[in-house]
Amino acid sequence: MQGGWWVDGENKSGYSLAADLEGIATDPLPTLWRPLPDDCEPAYWRVSRAIKDTGLAIVERPLPPWRQGTATVDTIVVSTTIPDSRNRLATLLHEYAHVLAHFGPVAREKVERQCELEAESDCYVALQHLGIDYPFSRDYLLHFRVTPDLLYQSLGAVQGIVRRMMRAVEAVKEDRAQAV
Ligand SMILES: [Zn+2]
Repeated sequence: MQGGWWVDGENKSGYSLAADLEGIATDPLPTLWRPLPDDCEPAYWRVSRAIKDTGLAIVERPLPPWRQGTATVDTIVVSTTIPDSRNRLATLLHEYAHVLAHFGPVAREKVERQCELEAESDCYVALQHLGIDYPFSRDYLLHFRVTPDLLYQSLGAVQGIVRRMMRAVEAVKEDRAQAV
């Protein structure tokens, strides 16, 4: 955040686990994320298009296995190593939340784990709204040692981000309703 750059899934506490792991790319350690049903391809592309229509860029390229995505103020990167569209959609929504809320002056007051709490909560709420189960948000927040106090502090921000995120998500809800 301070440097204007999010690299999700990386240990940012000083010691660089990622740097130590560069040499084992052929035999990576397990990550938080497991493959999920590959059932969100149309939703992923629908949301991608809606986000691009707001002027942001989305780049799909390989990232190391311990990273799902990154975000700058105007570009979202989603890793092509993610094996399924449901995890890919979740990554897109998580990074979109960072772009919407974590690069302005207000965000400078927030610590990293508060931003992660907000991004993952927004992603979770948006997916729930679409009826898509996403099982990794809890462990992701535990990884950042999120507390109930932090959650209360962020409720207003989460609501505000979700409201903006819904503009990119509503069309998917209509698609899915028609498909049933
Ligand atoms: Zn994040």
